[in-house]
Formats: sequence, structure tokens, C-alpha cells
Amino acid sequence: MDRKVALVTGAGRGIGKAIARELALDGYNIVINYNTSEDGAKELYNSFKELNITAMLVKCDITNEQEVKNMVDAVIKKFGHIDVLVNNAGIAIDALFNEKTVEEFKKTLNVNVIGTFLVSKYVGETMIANKYGKIVNISSTNGINTYYPMCIDYDASKAAIISLTHNLAVQFAPFVNVNAIAPGFIATERELEGMDDEFVKQEEEKVLVKRAGTAQDVANLVKFLVSDKAGFINNEVIRIDGGMYGSN
Ligand code: NAP
Repeated sequence: MDRKVALVTGAGRGIGKAIARELALDGYNIVINYNTSEDGAKELYNSFKELNITAMLVKCDITNEQEVKNMVDAVIKKFGHIDVLVNNAGIAIDALFNEKTVEEFKKTLNVNVIGTFLVSKYVGETMIANKYGKIVNISSTNGINTYYPMCIDYDASKAAIISLTHNLAVQFAPFVNVNAIAPGFIATERELEGMDDEFVKQEEEKVLVKRAGTAQDVANLVKFLVSDKAGFINNEVIRIDGGMYGSN
């Protein structure tokens, strides 16, 4: 049987890049989707070539329906099937509540919610046709709890991703498992932007295991969730935050 194919959105940097690498090392053919991180995506693609892993690089803005269709068509043309979809791409625009604009709010919803919907819609069709699929949506603990006043649009978008997850799990049953992951504080370059060491220390203090998570922590969970060992885990939201006071 040929190798399974995994499409990871936003795989040119951060958590998406770690997920794509982990799935590649686990034996999947990988579709590296990026929008602006061309260098990071190419660097990952080249590292796969050295390891003899078959990969495909696709530039696609997930908010653009035609680009999403083209991406899915191109993957099907090359590989014939998509077995795993990781909806990782997302943005966060930090601005205090009273300074948050409608344009910013719409932009966040457009990427995080509409983008996730579009990719799931077109990839989901191919999974149903193939009677097999695993989808993991990257939500956030911010979609469950409110932590900061500058994230109202982000929090709403990540809550919406949890709702999309439940909806897709029903729509795509019984062939496709759809789950969401809700990461807490994960120390990616973007997340650490503008944080000084003191603030990072304070954030780590709030975590029961007393450290920030890594992109690799999230990648390890995705690898398990898309494996057939996790076949009975479906329509679920799994926190990965090191444990927080007051949450369970
Ligand atoms: P990041 O480094 O900023 O990665 C975000 C990714 O989203 C980038 O690869 C970016 O692609 C992609 N993206 C944004 N807009 C896109 C668009 N229109 N089309 C296609 N791709 C697009 O952030 P990260 O920390 O790794 O976060 C990854 C995911 O985890 C996000 O959904 C984030 O909300 C979620 N998350 C992160 C944390 C954390 O603490 N880091 C916690 C909870 C949840 P390009 O760079 O190519 O444009």
C-alpha cells in the first residue's frame, strides 16, 4: 500500500512546521502549505528531500476559496488521496478590547474560522470519497477560557473552531475522525514576540508543570491522534497546556 498523505496548513513555521516534520518522520507523505513563510516552507521541504521523504510545497491563502480548491486538486493529482488534514493555520491580532477594530475582528474570523471551514470542506469531500480520513483542528485554551482582554476576536474564533470540529465530526461520520487540540502557552517565535523574560517566567509559573509547551509537544499529540491507535477518539477537544490552576 502506498504511504498515507498528510496536509498541514501553515507548515512553514511554528507549530505547523513541527507537526509536518513529526508526521514525515512517522512515514507520511507531506503536503507543506504556506502563505507568506516561503523560506521556512522551502527549508522544511529540502530537509525532507535529504531524508528521502516525498513532500509537496503548496502556497495557498486558506481564506481564498479558489486557491484552496486548486491546492486540493493539485494534491489529489500528485498523490491520489489525502488521509490526514491538520488545520493549524491561524492568526492572532493583539489589541485591547476598546481598541480592537471591526476590520481586525473580521480578519481573525476569516483566517481562523472561514479558512478552516474551506480547507475542511474541500479535503473532507476527498476523504469521504476515499472512506478514510483524520482531521485535527488546532483550537486553543483561549477557545475555552478567557485569559487576556486583547484576544476577544481570537478567543471567539478558537471557540468557533471547537464548534466546527463537532459539526464536521457529525457531517463526515463514519469515515473521518475529527478532533480539536487546545494548546495553552506554546513557546513559538510568534507567541514570544513582545514578551520579556520576566513575563515569560510569570506565564510559566501559572502552568502546573512550570514550563511553556513546545511545538514538538503539540506535534507528538497530533501524531497520536491521526494514528489508527486513536481510532476511537472522535469529536473530542483535547487540552495540551501542562495543566492550569482552575481548569480541568
Ligand atoms: P505562527 O508561527 O504565527 O504560525 C501561524 C501559521 O498560520 C503560519 O504558518 C502562517 O503561514 C499560517 N497562516 C496564517 N494565515 C494564513 C492564511 N491566510 N493562509 C495560510 N496560512 C496562514 O503561530 P504558532 O504559534 O505556530 O500557531 C500555530 C497555530 O496554533 C495557530 O492556529 C495558533 O492560533 C495556534 N495556537 C498557538 C498557541 C501558542 O501558544 N503558540 C496556543 C494555542 C493555539 P505563513 O507564515 O506562511 O503566512
